[in-house]
Amino acid sequence: MLVDSYRHKGLRKNLIDHLKIKGIKDENVLLAMSKIPRHFFLDPAFDEWAYKDQAFPISENQTISQPLTVAIQSSLLEIKKGDKVLEIGTGSGYQACVLRELGAKVYTIERIEKLFHKTNQLLQLMGYQSIRTYHKDGYQGLQLFAPFDKIIVTAGANQIPEKLKAQLKVGGYLVIPSGKGDIKTMIRLKKISETNFITENFGDFRFVPFKEGVVT
Ligand code: SAH
Repeated sequence: MLVDSYRHKGLRKNLIDHLKIKGIKDENVLLAMSKIPRHFFLDPAFDEWAYKDQAFPISENQTISQPLTVAIQSSLLEIKKGDKVLEIGTGSGYQACVLRELGAKVYTIERIEKLFHKTNQLLQLMGYQSIRTYHKDGYQGLQLFAPFDKIIVTAGANQIPEKLKAQLKVGGYLVIPSGKGDIKTMIRLKKISETNFITENFGDFRFVPFKEGVVT
């Protein structure tokens, strides 16, 4: 059973205050994150860890991103209600819920089938039926529903896939941690025409790798 106790709510409020101190100013993002019980996304044994500002292991050797990273990526997307948003790397589903709470129409892709099923179940249970989940290779994007207003990648890329750039609307943003080594640079591309992009950098981050192909 999923229980969101007063204790959890209190811990969550402290986490939101911490994110403000860390420089998160986007009130919509802070409000969205204050509504989502992050402990639902971790094994019940690790309940206490859910409200620390840390990444944490989930199943299949993957991680739920650090709350500050979720807040930064979500802020960079500048979500408007009704935006069509593609997330690559569903993982625990937490980031997808933040996007949904921001009013986005969310499409999210996970390459590991077991994790896809597990997260799907949780999202149903939490009432997030409107989040569309896909077991696919994120390198291909989701051509059937393109173009998207915004695309977010939550795994560390070596380079920015051309297919994702192509599936973005003109005026849209692609937020992706990318770079050669283990440490990735948070990059935001703004598509200003079918062939032109503006690139901005937002510092160093660590992510699990963005891998090609699916795991069944
Ligand atoms: N957004 C997630 C973060 C999960 S970690 C959360 O809020 O919990 C990144 C996830 O990206 C992992 O689950 C990993 O399996 C997935 N991933 C890596 N490469 C992928 C690809 N090519 N397509 C889809 N998902 C991918």
